[in-house]
Amino acid sequence: MPFDIETILPRLQDEVASYNTPVVDLIAVQTRDPYKVLVATILSARTKDEVTAKAATRLFKLAPDLASLEQLSEPELEKLIHPVGFFRNKAKHLAQLPGVLDRLFNGVIPDEVEPLTKLPGVGRKTANLVVTAAFNKPAICVDTHVHRIMNIWGYVTTKTPLATETALRKKLPQNFWRTVNSTLVAFGQGMCKPLRPHCDLCPINSECPQLGVTARRIPGEEKKKPHTKGKKFISWNVNGIRAMEKKGFADIVHELDADIIALQEIKAQPDQLSEELKNLPGYKSFWYPAQRKGYAGVAIYTKKEPLQVLHGLSHDIHDGEGRVLTLEYDDFYFVTAYFPNAQHGLARLDYKLEFNRDLHRFMDELSAKKSVVLCGDLNVAHKEIDLTNPKQNQKNPGFSPEERQWMDSFLDSGYMDTFRMFNQEPNQFTWWSYRFSARQKNIGWRIDYFCVDKKSAKRVKKATILSDIMGSDHCPVQLDFT
Ligand code: SF4
Repeated sequence: MPFDIETILPRLQDEVASYNTPVVDLIAVQTRDPYKVLVATILSARTKDEVTAKAATRLFKLAPDLASLEQLSEPELEKLIHPVGFFRNKAKHLAQLPGVLDRLFNGVIPDEVEPLTKLPGVGRKTANLVVTAAFNKPAICVDTHVHRIMNIWGYVTTKTPLATETALRKKLPQNFWRTVNSTLVAFGQGMCKPLRPHCDLCPINSECPQLGVTARRIPGEEKKKPHTKGKKFISWNVNGIRAMEKKGFADIVHELDADIIALQEIKAQPDQLSEELKNLPGYKSFWYPAQRKGYAGVAIYTKKEPLQVLHGLSHDIHDGEGRVLTLEYDDFYFVTAYFPNAQHGLARLDYKLEFNRDLHRFMDELSAKKSVVLCGDLNVAHKEIDLTNPKQNQKNPGFSPEERQWMDSFLDSGYMDTFRMFNQEPNQFTWWSYRFSARQKNIGWRIDYFCVDKKSAKRVKKATILSDIMGSDHCPVQLDFT
C-alpha cells in the first residue's frame, strides 16, 4: 500500500503540537523578524534547542537588530553565544553578516534560497528554513531528520539531504512544504529518534514500513542498564568520512554521546575536512590519514584529552597507509587500527600477516605497561559463526585459514574478543556488501572488533553491535569499559 503522506503529515502535526516547538519556529512566531530568525537559525546548527534559545536571548538583548549587531566585535560575539556548537565560526559569520548584507543586498535580508546562501554561515538548509520561518514562503528545508524519516517511510529513496530536497520538490504536495521541517524535526527529536525510535508509542506505527529501523526495546521488557561511571567507546569503519558527513554523521555522534569514537577508512586528508568535522562540539579529534588520497586512514574523537598520541607502528608501509592511531590515558591505551585487506586471490596476504604481527607486538608492548583496548576493522571473520557463508569463503580474503590462524594466535596469547564474552549467537554481523540487498537480508560478516588484554577483561561491562546505525557498509560496534 502506498504511503499516504497527505493523511500522515497532518496527524503528525497534531502529535507534535504537545512536543517542544523547535526554537527557530518559536522565535519566528514570537518575533516575525527575519533578522532574528536568520541569526537564530545560524546559531541552531549542531546545537541543542535549549542552548540555542539561551544564546539567542543573550545576543538579542545587546543586538536586537543588524545595526547593533555590527557594533559587536567577534570576541564579544563569541562570549555571548558560547556554548553553541562551533561558536567561534558562528561568531565570525555573525560579525561578517551586516557588512555582507549591506554590500550584496543593500542591508535587506533576502527572502529566497539562492541569495540567502551567499551570506556567511548560511547553507541550503539554513536558507530554506529562513525562507519558510521568516517569510512564510514555500521552501523545503531538509535536515537530517526530514531526510532520515522520509527514507524510513520509503516516500523517497535518496542518499543525501540535497537529493531528498530535490525529490520532495517533485513529489510532496506544496501545502506541506512550509511545515514539513518543523513537524519532522520535532517528531524526529521526540519520537522517531535517530537511534532506536520509539515505534511502540508511535501513532503511525501500523502504516510505517520502518525501512532500515531497529526500534527501541519496550521499556520494562529488558531493564536498561544506564551508562553511569563507565566509559563508552565506539568503533566504526565509515568507508569515507566526507560521504558520511552528508548522511548526518555529526547528529549520530551527538546521539551516541560516547567518550571515544574511533573511525577507520576515513579516506580523507585533514585539509579536505570541513571545520565542523574537525571540531565536533565536546570532542577533540586526531587524524591519521594515508598518504594516498581517498584511501584508508584512521581517526579518533575523544572527550578527554589524552596524555599522548602515538601515530603508527614505526613502519614505513603501515604508517604511509594511516593504519594505526593510539591514545594514552592514565590507566589504559586506546588503539584503533584499520587492518589491510588480503585482497582478491590473497594477493596481499603476506603483507597483511606482517602488519598483524607488528600490531600484535605493539599491543604486547603496551599491555606490559597498562590496560590496552584495540578496536577497528580487523578485516577477518574469526570463526564460521562470524559470517553467513563460511563454506563458500574458505579461501577468500577475510576468511582464509592464515588470517583466521593469526586471530587464533592473537587471542590465545592473551587478548579477548569482547563481543564473544557476551554473545554466542550466530548472524551477528558488522559488515554487509552493498550488493544484493545483503544488509536487508542480513548476509554479512563480523569483522569489526573491540579486543582487550585478558587482565583487563574485568573492566569490560558490555560489548555490542549497533547494527541499526546506517550510513556505511559497516555498522559501529560499542564497548562499555570501566
Ligand atoms: S513507526 Fe517507528 S520508524 Fe516509523 S515513524 Fe514511527 S517511530 Fe519512526
